[in-house]
Amino acid sequence: MTTDDLTKRGRLTVLSGPSGVGKSTVIATMRRVHPDVWLSVSATTRHPRPGERDGVHYHFVNRDQFMAMVDANMLLEWAEYAGNLYGTPREPVERRLSQGKSALLEIDLFGARQVRVAEPQALLVFLAPPSREHLFERLSGRGTEDQETVRRRFELAEVELAAVGEFDVVLVNDTVQHACDELVLLLESSTISHS
Ligand code: 5GP
Repeated sequence: MTTDDLTKRGRLTVLSGPSGVGKSTVIATMRRVHPDVWLSVSATTRHPRPGERDGVHYHFVNRDQFMAMVDANMLLEWAEYAGNLYGTPREPVERRLSQGKSALLEIDLFGARQVRVAEPQALLVFLAPPSREHLFERLSGRGTEDQETVRRRFELAEVELAAVGEFDVVLVNDTVQHACDELVLLLESSTISHS
């Protein structure tokens, strides 16, 4: 066994981007075609939506359980989003990477920044909207929210869009299928370059 074998680590890929850009739709589409891609299951304090299963879509925990994981350093990264806590369990990701296998995270921008620090070799992918106007249109919702809520979403979107320069790769979500194909290519190329 060479030193290279001993140090060969799997590639961690992070898909992030502004709220409302469609990250989870791209991931869900990709996983239908490539169920073999290993996706981290996050812990969250948010309540399950219809159809979501504990341990499959998320590990659903309460705030005390979540903070106990934080205190025990069990999370690779974590962040608060829309009043709920979300975090990546460290151990399953670490196990994959140390076995030389790849791992994919779908997380928000604040989490992506923490991964950059914790795992500098990670490939950070920014899913961008086709245009700023396109994202704002999506964020304005169905006209049911009050102006203040929509204004706050727009403000956050400006901050999030400005983070694009911190990422290694930008994928434009012009169509879900295109973004999905590009993501698969990235995952495949990162596997090849690390095998
Ligand atoms: P949702 O509640 O719609 O499933 O997710 C809300 C947001 O939380 C999305 O932007 C999603 O990418 C992000 N998110 C999901 N899991 C994690 C996680 O483990 N860590 C961080 N930082 N964000 C996450």
